[in-house]
Amino acid sequence: MCAMRTLLYPRPTLYNLTMSRASSLYRLQELDLELDRSRARVAEIESELADDQAVQAASERVRSLEDKLTTARTDNLSAEHAVASQLEKIHSSEQSLYGGSVTNPKELQDLQMEVESLKRYLETLEDRLLEAMLEMEEAQAQFDKATQGLNDLQAERIQATAQLRGELSSLKEDLERLAIERQAAVGDVEPTDLKRYGELRERVGGYAVVLMQGGSCSACGVDLAHSLQQEVRNSEEPFRCPQCSRFLYAG
Ligand SMILES: [Zn+2]
Repeated sequence: MCAMRTLLYPRPTLYNLTMSRASSLYRLQELDLELDRSRARVAEIESELADDQAVQAASERVRSLEDKLTTARTDNLSAEHAVASQLEKIHSSEQSLYGGSVTNPKELQDLQMEVESLKRYLETLEDRLLEAMLEMEEAQAQFDKATQGLNDLQAERIQATAQLRGELSSLKEDLERLAIERQAAVGDVEPTDLKRYGELRERVGGYAVVLMQGGSCSACGVDLAHSLQQEVRNSEEPFRCPQCSRFLYAG
């Protein structure tokens, strides 16, 4: 019976115990790093969701171009009216000139000169109308382009927002799962190790437990003497790097 219990529940060897303390810390850190990454991404997404500066700037541009277009349309209409009114004046003067009601040669000469003068000014007014039409067309083109740009941006934003919300909800599920896993992992860590781990992690910014690779600390690169390498592998107390103080894990 006693032999059977030993078989079923073997006492951990010193080696296993050591591995267990260092590997428990390593496992805890893996979870903490994943938690850090997930929380950072959540913050990034929340900030992206709150930031609609690009859409606001594009809306502002559309509004300003709409004002410009309204002004251009008004200017064009005034120029059209000026041309129409000048044509009426010319028509009326020509009627007097050719209608037969005026017979005095001096008056007829004055009328002739007036018609010529009115026609010269008509050319100026027609040039202004052409300019106003071109400006209106340009303003219309700019407004259409900006409106299209805004519509595209809004469509992209709707799509991006849906994607980000999806990612956010999956991250929140991850965070809940990780918190549960962390609670279990903390239970496997010695209280003194946990305290040191917490202090160290705060001090070095994330990586408190690092792998020993090729006989060196993978964080600071210090080479460890053979005897120290053995300690990393075998000592019950998790071994700390003599240079950077991080916990070393043999892996
Ligand atoms: Zn180190």
